[in-house]
Amino acid sequence: MKIAPSFSADSPLVVDGKAAAQKVLSEVRQRVELEGFRPGLAVILVGSDPASAVYVRNKSVQAEACGFLSRQYDLSEETPEEHLLSLITKLNGDPEIHGILVQLPLPRHIDASKVIQAIHPLKDVDGFHYMNVGHLATGSVSDALIPCTPSGALVLIHQVLGNNLSGKHAVIVGRSNIVGKPMASLLLQQNCTVTIVHSHTPDPAAIARQADILIAAVGVPKLITADWIKPGAVVIDVGINRIDSDGKSRLVGDVDYEAALTRAFAVTPVPGGVGPMTIALLMRNTLDAGLRIRRKNAKC
Ligand code: NAD
Repeated sequence: MKIAPSFSADSPLVVDGKAAAQKVLSEVRQRVELEGFRPGLAVILVGSDPASAVYVRNKSVQAEACGFLSRQYDLSEETPEEHLLSLITKLNGDPEIHGILVQLPLPRHIDASKVIQAIHPLKDVDGFHYMNVGHLATGSVSDALIPCTPSGALVLIHQVLGNNLSGKHAVIVGRSNIVGKPMASLLLQQNCTVTIVHSHTPDPAAIARQADILIAAVGVPKLITADWIKPGAVVIDVGINRIDSDGKSRLVGDVDYEAALTRAFAVTPVPGGVGPMTIALLMRNTLDAGLRIRRKNAKC
């Protein structure tokens, strides 16, 4: 465990999300072998958005690498909502499948909320079902499937600061259901003082500057500049934004990385920070879901 030494702006720590993700994945593989149990993950893609297709493919490949049963459903853009809902009902009852993931966003004619709520809460490995949201919000973390991106971000925060985050001021920029709000619940659970700033917050930079832990989940390239960052803060950049620079397309986060390096104690890069953790935590959620379902079935 790496514990933060006293702050030195000369040597900011670049948090290696790829290495941290490999560690989580190798633990998952070991547990699969140890338990002699094969979790099953079903990933559903509707439409042909190239970025979503890459994410889905990566999830399927990683599931296979973890020793899971991996099933990928590629549905056309025109798939009726009822068709998708009936596939989910079928997978809810499939004993070989323990995790169901529907890649978002969905085409406009499909009600994403209805689809998410149709997934059985025990198989909801994205952690978006109201049941899992409720468990997390009320602190029943051991009963919840927790959204993978905030869960992965928390692993990185623990890696930098150690397991005791009590009393740290965490500021989260962004209040989405996928990242901002579950991140806030997780950090409250860790006894942090948590503030969320969003698009209606006056002077969010002034609040962010108070943060020991600053989490950016906005979707605005390089919004977080040096004046948002308290010297010595841990900066976690969740943002993934594609920009054109010098005639080339590249990925950047919500944090101005170079500026953050001049102020922060530790920074997650984009790519190679939180991104790889999301997929690793999806595998961990699938294994946990599978073991929970197996225990439940054994009791019946
Ligand atoms: P979202 O669009 O659902 O939410 C963005 C939030 O940012 C909103 O709550 C909004 O109020 C806030 N916001 C917008 N402009 C702001 C401003 N100027 N100041 C303060 N707050 C502002 O986005 P999301 O789904 O939470 O995703 C956020 C970013 O994280 C995106 O870049 C997305 O691609 C990325 N993301 C990455 C991963 C990953 O695996 N690393 C996973 C999910 C999302």
